[in-house]
Amino acid sequence: VIRIDRGAEPGGLSSIRMEELARVGVIAASRWPTGDDIADRYVAVRDHLRERQFGKCAYCEWHEQPKRNDLEHYRPKSRYWWLAWTWENLLFACRNCNQPPAKGDQFPLEHGSRELGTHEQPPGEERPLLLDPASEDPIAHIQFVPERHKGHPRWVPRARNGSERGLETIRVLRLDDAENLLTVYQEHVRNLIEPARQVIVEALVSGDEARVRETWKREVCRLLSPTMPLVGLSRDALDHFFPLPVRQRWGLPLDELRHQLFAMLTAR
Ligand SMILES: [Zn+2]
Repeated sequence: VIRIDRGAEPGGLSSIRMEELARVGVIAASRWPTGDDIADRYVAVRDHLRERQFGKCAYCEWHEQPKRNDLEHYRPKSRYWWLAWTWENLLFACRNCNQPPAKGDQFPLEHGSRELGTHEQPPGEERPLLLDPASEDPIAHIQFVPERHKGHPRWVPRARNGSERGLETIRVLRLDDAENLLTVYQEHVRNLIEPARQVIVEALVSGDEARVRETWKREVCRLLSPTMPLVGLSRDALDHFFPLPVRQRWGLPLDELRHQLFAMLTAR
């Protein structure tokens, strides 16, 4: 999960929202609307979000099959039907993340917080445990760590500093699913991070400060660009291979570059 920027609401959504709220409001007068009652009038919005998210799933950050990806409701449409056309509630996400056994209609709340009433707008007194990539930096809550498994190292997402929201987000979205994503993480580190690591180590061994800084900047800008998959994993792998004291010794920025790249590529 990594920060996204939706940009402004696309034209056309507000008239769809008005029509659909009126239509589903009639259903809601006699029974609770189901997911099937929410018509699929999302094609334009989905394409817009796909572009804003650089073709990546908002949750797992993978873009292997963008055509199969769906319009996703952060607050599930089966439980919050009146938010089903609200721009701030919409994301572009893959089916592995947004359909059971992953998210589905799960939307866990912090203990003691109160679910929104019908027609109530967020946040109200609701404190969601699922991270919202459009309004916060999920890297503060989720950390990829290399763990040994049957003698081999593998990268696994864990709650950073015991974050309850990080833990719940990993559980709901099954981001540590061994069958599926752990292999993707492993191949990403092997094919993209390891070669970059080698080039940076070679520069460090040369002792040439200008070369070190230039190599670092080039490799990090490539790996942490929001157009790239799995930026959260890349960031933590770089932090693992080149810990803060090493970066400070050579003057090598990490999160500063990530924030700059994000601001540059999402400004519009
Ligand atoms: Zn996904």
